[in-house]
Amino acid sequence: VRLARSWLGELRKVLLLLAVGTSAGWVFDASLLGFAAAATLVLALWFYQLGRIQYWLSQPSDEPPEAGGVWGDIFDQIHHLQRHDREARSRLQSTVAYLRDSFAALRDGAVMVDARGNIEWSNRAAERLLGLQYPRDRSQAILNLIRVPEFHDYYQVGDFSEPLQLDAPGRPDTRLQLEITGFGAGDRLLFARDVTKIVRLEQMRRDFVANVSHELRTPLTVISGYLSTLLDNSDDLDARFRKALQQMSQQATRMETLLRDLLWLARIEAMESEEKRDPIDIRTLLHEVRHEALAAHPDRELLLTLSSEQAVRGDYKELYSAVSNLVFNAIKYSGADKPVQVRWLERDGQLRLEVEDHGVGIDPAHLPRITERFYRVEASRSSQTGGTGLGLAIVKHVLMSHGATLDVQSTPGRGSVFSIVFPGA
Ligand code: ADP
Repeated sequence: VRLARSWLGELRKVLLLLAVGTSAGWVFDASLLGFAAAATLVLALWFYQLGRIQYWLSQPSDEPPEAGGVWGDIFDQIHHLQRHDREARSRLQSTVAYLRDSFAALRDGAVMVDARGNIEWSNRAAERLLGLQYPRDRSQAILNLIRVPEFHDYYQVGDFSEPLQLDAPGRPDTRLQLEITGFGAGDRLLFARDVTKIVRLEQMRRDFVANVSHELRTPLTVISGYLSTLLDNSDDLDARFRKALQQMSQQATRMETLLRDLLWLARIEAMESEEKRDPIDIRTLLHEVRHEALAAHPDRELLLTLSSEQAVRGDYKELYSAVSNLVFNAIKYSGADKPVQVRWLERDGQLRLEVEDHGVGIDPAHLPRITERFYRVEASRSSQTGGTGLGLAIVKHVLMSHGATLDVQSTPGRGSVFSIVFPGA
């Protein structure tokens, strides 16, 4: 309504001017000239207002020029749009600043890298942890600035599902954990966290377990040594004492196996980061494991199916301990009349070592936890079988350091298949 009214007003003004011009011309007998003069005046007025708009827009002053009618409305509307735009921009800017500030204040290093691998932005912690300085290093290739081989490989391969641990560049006493997330069109967000303390604690735990196990071994050897001497000469002992000695000897043996497994686990953990590159013929290894298993359980049946001739790269002793743990478990947790089958094969481009038994099986609820240290499906079952609860933990660590995985299929009451899966044949 207001717009229509101002347009009507403008129209009336123009018509009035034209009418006055024409009638003034008519008085002097030149109405056409009068009309033309009035039209020129109208045009001149419009040009004047256009000029004012342009002048006003060309310089960033806030208040619009004063004007009435349609021109006033136009000025007001432009002014309104401008203010709206300015407010939106400043809101956006403060959001960006807020986000940057919060990223900048993070204790973890944060780096934004564009699709070409150049640094867009990094925060203050990234300077301390990674030696990157913003804005000095802006638009520089990140691989040129963080010159650590592990990082180079990790970044180039582009599989960021697992974080990377590395020494901080130029500071070997600081351990970092890097996580990279992709976003936008190939951009990457890199987070670096100082995990020195966690790594040190982990190391302390490992050392503690290894030292305690080691220290306990000598006294235990002495005790079981005397026990077996005593047992050897126990013929004229009271039956009650003989039974006590037998049980002590059994328990001492259990403790020895436990210590042996703990020490072995500590060793595997300590060697985890070392590369294992010896070519291992799995068929030879399986024959040896079978030989050992049959020596311990001569009454059992153990079938080998070797359909692959592929060798894998690794550490013979470690792989041997993993496989023999699986085979001995299969024997332990299945009935004496049930054969155990071991297969070495290729399937879907993977190498698989499968150990199948037809024994008690495992309830699916327990599966996620069976590789934890000392985890037992049933407390009673293991003390009967004399297990240490460390077997599958050893398997897990060996496989981890070999880049292999453990796949377990099991049906309670029917049996289990434990498969070691090596990546790409
Ligand atoms: P343990 O020394 O008790 O055998 P492990 O770490 O080797 O310890 O195994 C953990 C648990 O997983 C065992 O206590 C057992 O309950 C279960 N388990 C392992 N292998 C088998 C199997 N082949 N069949 C059924 N249960 C198994």
